[in-house]
Amino acid sequence: MSTAAAYIAIEDRFGARCYRSTPIVLSRGEGVYLWDVQGKRYIDGMSAYSAVNLGHAHPRIVEALTNQANTLSMISRAYHSDQLALALEAVSRFFGYERSLFINSGAEAVETSIKLARRWGYVKKHIPHDQAEIIVMANNFHGRTLGATSCSTHALYRENFGPLLPGFRPVPFGDIDALKQAITPHTCAILLEPIQGEAGIIMPPYGWLKAVRALCDDQNILMLADEVQSGIGRSGHRLFCQSEGVKPDVVMLGKSLGGGVLPVSAVLADSHVMDVLTLGSHGSTFGGNPLASRMVREVLSIVEEDQLCQKSLNLGASWLEALRSANLRGVVDVRGSGLWIAIEIDSSLPQFADWTRQKVQELAEHGLLTKETRGHILRLAPPLIISPQQLDEVLSILKKVFT
Ligand SMILES: *Cc1c(COP(=O)(O)O)cnc(C)c1O
Repeated sequence: MSTAAAYIAIEDRFGARCYRSTPIVLSRGEGVYLWDVQGKRYIDGMSAYSAVNLGHAHPRIVEALTNQANTLSMISRAYHSDQLALALEAVSRFFGYERSLFINSGAEAVETSIKLARRWGYVKKHIPHDQAEIIVMANNFHGRTLGATSCSTHALYRENFGPLLPGFRPVPFGDIDALKQAITPHTCAILLEPIQGEAGIIMPPYGWLKAVRALCDDQNILMLADEVQSGIGRSGHRLFCQSEGVKPDVVMLGKSLGGGVLPVSAVLADSHVMDVLTLGSHGSTFGGNPLASRMVREVLSIVEEDQLCQKSLNLGASWLEALRSANLRGVVDVRGSGLWIAIEIDSSLPQFADWTRQKVQELAEHGLLTKETRGHILRLAPPLIISPQQLDEVLSILKKVFT
């Protein structure tokens, strides 16, 4: 048995069975590249769902990580730390919110936002006890906790996990009229991904985010934007909402916030919202620990100094153009924002899901790692540090496989 097959067999024997990974066993990463246990090199076209936006083993991240680990990694919020203060200030400056709260995973940021919005609904909007409602979008992905699972409209994610949380009302993504109709006097918030990532990088109709903002202002409802994947440069903006000049009341961040080395997430809001979380009402053991805080500050400083948002926007736009004019066989749509691009396979092809999986396999054989979602949509999201030459390499692999 090959080394790779041996590792896969061990994982299969001892792991929970809720994953189906491509049969490649990775053991090293540097920049945009990954290597498997046999030493084969790949371009990372996934960046771990944007957790690794800065690439693997970024020298500044590794240095800040090791220095801080040697200095102070973890204390609880029973005490203050120098690093937490500096990270909070950096986040506030970078994103333009008065306050933020650090937690760990993206799902936990969503969970926190749900709690925050409900509490705001009772304290500020005087919604009757336990009646608060949150409007969510069909085909959303907000993570895997019970709260996020309760928001989901995807049967696979919900089945046999009940009883789920009440109080969520789904409407179609991008449909402002449906949204208006779903509002009741008990609505405290509208929760949305400004671009629906896991659903297949679904772009909102232009102007929709602005219309949601206006509706929220008009009806005294909080706008909650899950920018866990779209934020910090992936879509070409600090926050995708900013591309339409929209400031949500609450923003969720995660994934790349930890520099690809730690799980770190955050909820951002101005004081008039955040302050409903009063003393002792929320918390997390690892939330805002010194090591995580140090990572956050380094990430934001790299994104700013290396102008990664602008780079993602510009490179993404020219890449999108190139992909569209490449006329890839079996592809019906190419879309995205920044270095976050979906290649949609024709789902009227016979056995399109098998065909898509086979293409993912062929791309890997040619040295490009990607992954399908919803059976027929390939996602391309390389690290934002990718060079134009490396992007050309990606394009030529795609052309070879889709001829
Ligand atoms: C990945 C993701 C999450 C969940 O993040 P985890 O760190 O896996 O819990 C939530 N929302 C969006 C939009 C995501 O893409």
